[in-house]
Amino acid sequence: MTQIPARSVLGGPLKPFVPRTGRAHPLPLFMPVYQPRERVFQLAMADADVKIEGLIVNSFFLYKQRELRTLLTTQTNLPAYVGFDGLITTDSGAFQGFTRKLYLNNRDIVRFQDKIGSHVIAPLDLVTPPGDSRSIAESKLEATQKRIKEALAIAEHGVVAGVQQGGRFLDLRTKSLEGLMAMGIEYLAIGSLVPFFNKNHDLLFAGRVIREARAMAGPDLPMHIYGAGDPLELPFFLALGATIFDSASYAHYAAGGAYMTPYGALSDPGPLLAGEYRCPCAVCRDEADIAAVFSDKERLSCHNLSTICRTVLHLRGLLESGAGLDAYLAEVLERHAAWFPQSALMRSWAELQA
Ligand SMILES: [Zn+2]
Repeated sequence: MTQIPARSVLGGPLKPFVPRTGRAHPLPLFMPVYQPRERVFQLAMADADVKIEGLIVNSFFLYKQRELRTLLTTQTNLPAYVGFDGLITTDSGAFQGFTRKLYLNNRDIVRFQDKIGSHVIAPLDLVTPPGDSRSIAESKLEATQKRIKEALAIAEHGVVAGVQQGGRFLDLRTKSLEGLMAMGIEYLAIGSLVPFFNKNHDLLFAGRVIREARAMAGPDLPMHIYGAGDPLELPFFLALGATIFDSASYAHYAAGGAYMTPYGALSDPGPLLAGEYRCPCAVCRDEADIAAVFSDKERLSCHNLSTICRTVLHLRGLLESGAGLDAYLAEVLERHAAWFPQSALMRSWAELQA
């Protein structure tokens, strides 16, 4: 076994998240990004094997289509329109606003999300990439806090996500969270963290942010990491205190030919052909030629989504049974190190424990 200690901060079952609907949603939870035009998404939603329990929908794309906007605000609502009865959350278009001008304001997009029945509403926060200077990160943080305060005053039906910003500055991340806690947020979202863990599974900065946020937020506040969706990384984020995840990673990885496993994504079927791992999903379990899945983007995407959802259910089961995450994390570290000796996961996790 690996010598790297793998303590987790979460010992037992997590308190479920209960939005205004009154329905309890068990944690941890993964929400794929709703992609109505992707056939794989429709297949996955209809596939009992995949068990999608939550969705995140881009409210900006709904809002900018005038007819759809009217339909959603007058004749139907978001859960009915999507045809989904799990947790349904929205993001605000903030990420799109990062790359182009949106002609959108915070009040309008918050009011829209609330009106169409989103269970968790996102303010129009200001995405803060690692390259932003301290003064820019600080002014984005302050503007984001104002928008969250405004959203809290507007929302009548949905829970407002308190989005932490602060870019690469840990003390600004702390300041952001202090402000959010003072506002009495019921749902915490960690913003602009993706670029930090996107490089070779280096969890150091993201891990510090998550661990400190959990320490400040107490044990029960739901904590959502925007954009986290690699089944290798989610157990580590969970162990540090994050409890809700969303991503379109299943499709992005498939587009690049990557086959997700709990031990890291493979670009070739070598370890599968060697019998080191066998995926139980509907795509793979009866497939005699597993290499064929790698070259079929749609089936690969379906496999990836199933792998993320199954991993999260497994993690929940470990917490609920009282077994905890430590043995699982140690097994993942050991297999991952054998398959990907150049990965930063082992080193960064060890540094987080130091
Ligand atoms: Zn599979």
